[in-house]
Parts: sequence; structure tokens; C-alpha cells
Amino acid sequence: MTHHDVIVIGAGFSGMYQLKRLREAGFDTVVIEAGDDVGGTWFWNRYPGARCDIESVEYSYSFDPQLEQEWDWSERYAAQPEILDYARHVADRYDLRRDIEFNRRVRSLDWDEDATRWTVTTDDGRSRTATWVIAATGCLSVPSRPRFEGLEDFAGEVYWTSSWPHEPVDLAGKRVAVVGTGSSGLQTITAIAPEVGSLVVFQRTPSYAVPAHNGPNERLAEVRPIYPEFRAASRMERIGFQCDAGTDLLGETDPEEVERRLGLRWDVGGLCFTSEFADVLVDAEANEVVAEYVRRRIRETVKDPDVAEKLSPRTYPIASKRMCVDTGYFEVYNRDNVSLVDLGEEPIRRITARGIVAGDTEHEVDVIVFATGFDAMTGALNAMEVRNGDLTLREKWADGPRTYMGLMSVGFPNLFTVTGPQSPSVLSNMMTSIEYHVDWITAALEYLRANGRTRMEAEQEAEDNWVTATNDIADTTLMPQAASWYMGANIPGKRRMFMPFLGGVGTYKQIGDGVAVARYHGFELV
Ligand code: FAD
Ligand code: NAP
Repeated sequence: MTHHDVIVIGAGFSGMYQLKRLREAGFDTVVIEAGDDVGGTWFWNRYPGARCDIESVEYSYSFDPQLEQEWDWSERYAAQPEILDYARHVADRYDLRRDIEFNRRVRSLDWDEDATRWTVTTDDGRSRTATWVIAATGCLSVPSRPRFEGLEDFAGEVYWTSSWPHEPVDLAGKRVAVVGTGSSGLQTITAIAPEVGSLVVFQRTPSYAVPAHNGPNERLAEVRPIYPEFRAASRMERIGFQCDAGTDLLGETDPEEVERRLGLRWDVGGLCFTSEFADVLVDAEANEVVAEYVRRRIRETVKDPDVAEKLSPRTYPIASKRMCVDTGYFEVYNRDNVSLVDLGEEPIRRITARGIVAGDTEHEVDVIVFATGFDAMTGALNAMEVRNGDLTLREKWADGPRTYMGLMSVGFPNLFTVTGPQSPSVLSNMMTSIEYHVDWITAALEYLRANGRTRMEAEQEAEDNWVTATNDIADTTLMPQAASWYMGANIPGKRRMFMPFLGGVGTYKQIGDGVAVARYHGFELV
């Protein structure tokens, strides 16, 4: 059986950078990727309108100053084709593909304690071993495909935003339905509304959305000369990118001043909108003021008051679900060819050969687009059979994930997760969090090699404390109040638990750096 020092699973931004670092450090490394090219999220999610929601000067690698200088981002928020081009450019530039095996999905990982190695088996039946396995499998890489009765009877075309076809899809003039109004749904709806014949949107829960004010990337020229300092500052930010977060409390600020400052944030656009005041995520009244500001903006934009009300989120605090960054989403509902079905009033009863039955109405369509999200954070890890003797990761995590720092889980030695549950991951600029984890893991492996150690495992006490701390921090905020994918609430039967670490990217880095300096405190090195 072929043996490697390290097997990395996944060739998105995490796996690509991990390969580069390990190769440079002299580890024999192979990457296994289910898709037929690099890019991960940006390889799979090719739906119309897909783009990043964090500015491209932040949502990009920082590891190579030359790469930063030579790559041009055309827009403030790059679209999916450009981000995928970037991923491919990185693969070419560092000759990554020669160590990536595409079109292979890892099915199982089996720990052999005597040999101190993992056996990694792929869906083609091939097995190989590695001393270390790094799951760079993504937080949003396993689509959630809810069962809709009758879907198999539908005579038209069906698409999922999370696995959009690679060949062009022609929606021009067609009657299209979109199910789901999270970020993917919003972007798709906005992009296709002008080209389709008619569009009917099936909304279960409305989203808070702030404008992107997308356009040419004027900031790139400002940031390029100071990239090193700029990136260093981002790494210490709570969310891994710069928001100039305010320290004032909304609850103690004069209402007119609140209005003025929220207006300024709105005009700048983007996810920093909720960062003006420090109490928005912890004080329900402060949160409601900001939420109502967004609802008022919706009412100002959408001409039909009934539709505006249906589009206004009221059942969860703003920012307790990932906010959407939109480019004319609410304006779409002023078009004659667009209609909205509120599933709260008219639930989807079934799908027929002709379309979707919601309430008592059959909506006849040619195409259904599902934008129904992902089995987030634990989905890709639990999709594999990860086993150490009688213990499987799936069973261990049946009541929610348990990790130390989102990097390792007790009982599964030598297995790292990049942006795993209980790390800042999805609450941050993922590029910042990915690079931090990859650097941390690489440094750990170098340390272990230099000290003749071949086995590393999280300690029980460290894991228990970390899980408690992660939950306690979340409980001090309004975040657990939403039925969000952060909570696992979008997947029937999934245990509800706030999965990401909310303590902040900068704080997490300080903890992680301290753990490493203290010779990997909380980990047992053998
Ligand atoms: P992924 O990009 O998900 O890559 C994981 C790879 O692992 C995939 O290619 C998958 O095929 C492979 N894989 C998984 N399991 C297996 C297996 N068993 N065997 C073999 N291969 C496997 N984050 C931001 O910070 N800003 C954004 O603007 C932003 N926009 C997003 C837009 C969309 C539509 C989505 C879905 C997510 C977005 N994210 C964003 C989050 C995004 O997932 C991360 O930013 C980042 O791309 C994750 O990189 P990754 O390499 O960790 O994971
Ligand atoms: P999502 O936020 O989970 O949204 C899924 C949508 O589908 C929700 O509106 C959900 O309604 C609806 N839905 C799910 N099951 C349904 C059912 N059975 N019937 C009817 N409606 C159903 O997923 P997403 O939009 O793909 O986004 C996931 C995450 O990926 C984002 O939060 C973000 O982190 C990232 N992302 C980012 C961007 C970007 O702007 N860069 C774009 C896309 C994705 P409920 O809310 O009621 O569950």
C-alpha cells in the first residue's frame, strides 16, 4: 500500500495552501479531491450571480507578496468565474496539480494505532496510508437537498445552486422557480430576474440583506502598496477583515445619531453594516433598532407594501444568521415578471409534472432552482466513515461536534481539520481563518518531526474546556436564537449547537499562538 507523510482531503483554498506549505516543508504530501479541478466552493457553486460577500482585497490569499502584487481584482466583490480563475492561477503558479488526485472522493479513514497511521480509502476502492490526515473538506461543501414530494415527477429542468452545471444553462424567456432565499438564492434571483420569462420565488424565511455597492475595485490601488500591514491588521480583527468596528453602545447613543451612523454604514455597504455599535449582537433592543432600519429600507425599495412586509425578517435577530450582501435584490420585486410565495402562509405541498403546489395554487414552471443550503461545518467530515476501532466520529458527534480549537477531536489522533467546528471559520473572512489554520498545522508538524514525535491527539480536558467555552461565548449573544445553519437547525434531526467559535479571529489567533509556544499545550505528543 502506498504510504505518504500527509494526505490532505480537498483542493479548495484550504487544501491548496496546505499542499504548498507542506511541500515546502519537505513532507511527502498528496491531496485527494472529489471535483475535477481546484477551487472548492468556487468550483461547485457556479450559479448565476455568485460572488464573494467580503471584499476581494480581503478575500484572497496573503501568503505571497508577489501573488498579491500581480493579481488584479476587477470588482470590489469578485464574481465566481474570477475567483475560480484566481484559484486556477494559484494552482498553476505553484504547480500544485501534480500532487492533487482529482475525481476521487474519500469514503473512509481508519486509524491503525499500532502502525500510527491512517488508512484512507477512496470511492474507487483504492486504499493508501498516511501518518497525518488533514481534512480540508470545507464548511459549506455538502449540499442540503431536502426531500420534496413529487420532485421526481417534475417534467422540467432542476438545478441546485450548490452543484450548478459546468456548461451554460439557458434560462432566457423560461418560467423559473427559485426555492430558498439565503445568500445563494438572493444572488441567483437578482441575476436571473431580467432574463427569465417569469420568476416565482418560494421564501420560507426572509433574509436581512445590505447593499454591496459593487463596482470597479478602486480600493486595490490603495491597499496594494500596504498589503503586509493591511493583512496583519485583518488577522487581529474579530471577523478577520477590517470593519472599523465601533465601541459605542447603540443603547446609549442618541437615536438621531444612530440613524446617521447606520446611514453612513449603509452607504458604504457590505457586512460591516452591523459593526457600527458594540451591543448589536448582545442586546436585543439594540439589535431590533438595526433590524428595523433594514426593514424600513426594504419598505422604501419595494413598491407593494404586502410584498415588502413578506420580505421583512421578523423572527430572528439581525446578524444571527449570515447576512446577505445584495446587488439590487429587493428592487427585483418591482418587476412585473417576478412574484413571491411566502411559504409561511402557503407551504409547499408537493411538486407535480408541471410545477410546485404551494397552499392551493399550482405554480407552473419550466425550471426549478433549489438554493436550499448546506449541511454546514460537520457535513463533509461526517460524510466520511472516520473510525478508530469501535469509535466513529459520526457517533462521537451525534450530540454536536466536540473539538479542541476546531483542530482536533479526542479519539482521532493525527487528524486535523482546517476551519473545523469550534474555530472562527464561517464567522470570519474564511481566507484569514484558512491561512491561520494551515500555518498552525504546518508548524505543528514541523515541531513534531524535529522532536521525533509521530502522534498528536487533543487531551480530553482541553477539549471539554474548549467546547464549554465555545458554547458559553455563544450563549452570551443573540446568535443561538436563530434557527440557522450555524446551529445545525437547517438539517432535520441534526443536534442544535452553535458550531463556530464566536470569540473572534484575533483572540483565537492569540490563543492558538500561545498553545503552540507552550509546546502544544492541551495536545498529547507521543
Ligand atoms: P471548500 O472550498 O468547500 O473545498 C473543500 C473541497 O473538499 C471541495 O472541493 C470538495 O469537493 C472537497 N471534498 C470534501 N469532502 C471530500 C471527500 N470526502 N473526498 C474528496 N474531496 C472532498 N467565505 C468567505 O469568507 N467569503 C465569501 O464571500 C464566501 N462566499 C461563499 C459563497 C458561497 C456560494 C459558498 C457556498 C461559500 C462561501 N464562503 C465564503 C465560504 C467558503 O466555503 C470559503 O470561503 C472557502 O472557499 C472554503 O474553502 P475550503 O477549501 O476550506 O473548502
Ligand atoms: P442558506 O443560507 O442555508 O439558505 C437556504 C435557503 O433555503 C433558506 O432560505 C432556507 O429557508 C431555504 N430552505 C431550506 N430548506 C427548505 C425547504 N425544505 N423548503 C423551503 N425552503 C427551504 O444557504 P445558502 O444561501 O446556500 O448560503 C449558505 C452560506 O454560504 C451563506 O450563509 C454564506 O456563508 C455562504 N454563501 C455566501 C455567498 C456570498 O454572498 N458570498 C453566497 C452564497 C453562500 P430557512 O431560512 O427557513 O431555513
